[in-house]
Amino acid sequence: MSYKGRSRDPRQMTSRFAGTCYTCKKPIKKGEEIIYWPNGNHAEHFACGEADYRNSVASFEDEDRYNG
Ligand SMILES: [Zn+2]
Repeated sequence: MSYKGRSRDPRQMTSRFAGTCYTCKKPIKKGEEIIYWPNGNHAEHFACGEADYRNSVASFEDEDRYNG
């Protein structure tokens, strides 16, 4: 599977620097699990964005992988 042309897709990653969560407005600490959204250029705690992230991923992944 190629990631070409998917630079706008959200990605789960480890924060490399401190920041502020887009959703809850609380601090994001370096090393925390976050979700980064290139299309909005913002980041949020993984827990805060998990539902949206999964919906977004499911929209272009094989649904069967998420139905089990
Ligand atoms: Zn948050």
